[in-house]
Parts: sequence; C-alpha cells; structure tokens
Amino acid sequence: MQTFEYFKPQTVEKALITPPPARYIAGGTTLVDLMKLTVETPSVLVDINSLPLASIEKLPGGGLRIGALVRNSDLAWHPDVQSFYAVLSQALLSGASPQLRNMATTGGNLLQRVRCAYFRDPDAGTPGGYGCNKRTPGTGCAAIDGYHRMHAILGTSDHCIATHPSDMCVAMAALEAVIHLEGPKGKREISIAEFHKLPGNTPHIENVLEPGELVTHVELPKPIEGARSVYLKLRDRASYEFALASAAVVAKVENGHIQYARIAMGGVGTKPWRSHEAEGALTGQTATAASFRTAAEAAMAAAHPRTDNAFKVELAKRCLIRTLKLATA
Ligand code: SF4
Repeated sequence: MQTFEYFKPQTVEKALITPPPARYIAGGTTLVDLMKLTVETPSVLVDINSLPLASIEKLPGGGLRIGALVRNSDLAWHPDVQSFYAVLSQALLSGASPQLRNMATTGGNLLQRVRCAYFRDPDAGTPGGYGCNKRTPGTGCAAIDGYHRMHAILGTSDHCIATHPSDMCVAMAALEAVIHLEGPKGKREISIAEFHKLPGNTPHIENVLEPGELVTHVELPKPIEGARSVYLKLRDRASYEFALASAAVVAKVENGHIQYARIAMGGVGTKPWRSHEAEGALTGQTATAASFRTAAEAAMAAAHPRTDNAFKVELAKRCLIRTLKLATA
C-alpha cells in the first residue's frame, strides 16, 4: 500500500474543501482492499465517519431518508425497512458477511467497484499486465476472451463486460431511490437509474459523481399501498458470495391481475438493471406462470452472453420467475 495523508473533518462543508485526488472513505470495505492491491492509490484520504450522515428518518409525505453513513446492517434491520421496503432488507442481508455489513455504508455500497479478477490484478492495465480498460483506458479487456463466467450479459460493450456487484443497488433500482449529492458546486439529486453509467467506451467512468462530490443520503419514495416486494439471489454458495443472477420485484396484484410491477436484476448487468421490458410485459396481465415466463423472456431479450456466461440467460429468467411467484403469491 502506498503512503497517504489522512484527514477527518467533522462537517460536510469541511469535507468538501479537500480537493481531488483526495478520496472519501467510510467503511473502507472496498477502498482499503483496492489500496492494498495498489488498484487505488489516493494521496489523501478524507475520513467521513464523523459527518452527521448516519440517521434514518421518515419523510413528511411518506418515504424514508437514509444517510450515506448508515451501515448496511442497521439499514437491513431497521423496522421501517423491514416492514415497508422488504426487498431492500433482503438484498442487504444477502450481501457479504455480517462483519462486512456492520462496516459497509449506504454511500459506499452505491460506489462498490467491480469484482472482475483482471481489474483487481495489481499489474492490470500496465505494460506486461492484463488489458483492462477500466484500470487504464485503451489497454483492452482481458475478460472478453478470458475468464468471464461471472461477467455481465446486459449493458456490456466491447470495452468492458464487468458485472455491477451490489445487491443493495438492485433493490434500490426497483424502489426508484433518489440519490442526494453535495459537492463544490452545490447540492443536486439524481435517480438511481441515472447514477450508474454503462461502460460504453469509457468504462473507467462508473457513475455521475463530479470530482469532490459526496453522496449525502438516499431517499426512498413512499411505499406503494398494497404492494409486496421480494429479493432473490442465486449464487455459487449460500453466503458471502456475489450473485450469478438476482431479482428485485415490487408488485401489486388485484383480482388476480398485476396492477403494478417494478423489476430490477442483479448479477447480469454492468449496472443495477431495471427491466422496463419485463414490467411492460406484466402490467395488466394475470399473475400466472405463463405471464411470468413472458416477462422473463422480455427481461433477457437484449442479453449478449459470451462463451462461459451463457448459462446466466436461463438462470436469470428462472430467478425472475421465482421472484415474481413469491411477490405475487
Ligand atoms: Fe477490465 Fe472491465 Fe475488462 Fe474486467 S471486464 S478486464 S474490469 S475492462
């Protein structure tokens, strides 16, 4: 690990005056790993753990405001999250380990970096190392013709096929969360659908954060009355493992018909993958196995698998079908 300066401000205002290339650190469950691997080499670390961003509050019109420093465990076990946003609680509890969830924060989870083995190789993107456009633009993508069993089948490009690793973000996509940011130019908010970027030909740009901008909190809209929500994650082992495929569903059924459906998928996309195609295929239809299969086909219609991850197409379909059954039962 390379040496760095360390700074621990007590207010958001003071945190924002530290110029890039300083990096914010909270739980450190991603960043410290990457610093040890020399994948990330910040010269200044701004420890934001003292900022007043660790509360969960009800919003006046319904909805929930979640501070960026709320730990994943605290969010998962919060009574309002368990009662009204079950999909989020389930997604959080399916991720990592209890120890990591006790450290990892809401803001940090939004900014998780990819688990591609080439990306995490210390020499990737350097002369003589694996090509990795995310590490060093223009060096190629070793995963495309290499090991890519875990990689994405939706939203990929010829420059990067890494899967977005977060479970929390998939649930938040189905819940239509709004992310609040504060930076040197002021405050702004952005939907989670727009927060993460597709790799395109700039896979090193993973989200819309401007230099020095800080995630301050996330807002969840008021829950849909009468809707149920479920998160299901399929993986190689039962815990402490990333998704091969996952699905987050918020659905409301009346008189046997689906009145409302919001669907997002994980383990398959280069960003948390909202499937408007599956939602369109379901809305107004009867809650039956045939409708679920049609929705699953729609969700995967644009899939672009490669040799070793082609199995994910059918796996993701079955994952979504099973989640829809649970959410509409
Ligand atoms: Fe790098 Fe993305 Fe290719 Fe992995 S998939 S080697 S992160 S460019």
